Amino acid sequence: MMASYSTRKRVSVMFEEKQREKGLLLVFTGNGKGKTTAALGLAFRAIGHDFPVCMIQFVKGSWKYGEIEAAKHFDNLMELHVLGRGFTWKSDDLTKDIKAARDAWEFAARIIGENRHRLVILDELTYLISYSILQEQEVLDVLARRPENMHIAVTGRNATEGLIDAADLVTEMRNVKHAYDNGIRAQKGIEF
Ligand code: ATP
Ligand code: MG
Repeated sequence: MMASYSTRKRVSVMFEEKQREKGLLLVFTGNGKGKTTAALGLAFRAIGHDFPVCMIQFVKGSWKYGEIEAAKHFDNLMELHVLGRGFTWKSDDLTKDIKAARDAWEFAARIIGENRHRLVILDELTYLISYSILQEQEVLDVLARRPENMHIAVTGRNATEGLIDAADLVTEMRNVKHAYDNGIRAQKGIEF
């Protein structure tokens, strides 16, 4: 039997509702490889729509030559900021590491507030929360206040519960097998 007009109307309104643009919070976490790669895939897709993208690296050294060079091909649309110092956890470096991480977060919060981008990638941000450099709540507050049409992708292992709750989409990369396990060295274009 054909659905009544009012039912069809209601369904179509619901559909339009779903079609409306909305900035999503996406989280790529887990121990398997592919978190940063997934975020870079989104960047590539967004650039195809002429969406300005900003990617911020919170842990120095986790980005590879390949993506840094590739971003130069899209330099009108893709902004890349390598801000963290890396975590050495040597006592003499620790204060500097924490300061750099906090500065990086303040920079990210400013980028989000400026609303110049349609996609902002906060690469390896989860570590700043799990190492208690940032309070989870201060991160969630900034993410919740993101501009309406801005997508934000957060990557890193051990995403905390609050972040997972706040996200619209969470994917956990599960390690099934990694080439390193068999002593295969990092390959150009795959790892760097
Ligand atoms: P990628 O940047 O390749 O998408 P990722 O963001 O998921 O990796 P990170 O936690 O940022 O992973 O770690 C970066 C490096 O660690 C990469 O060189 C990656 O291949 C390696 N790595 C990630 N997962 C594993 C694993 N399960 N076993 C061994 N090495 C791994
Ligand atoms: Mg990564």
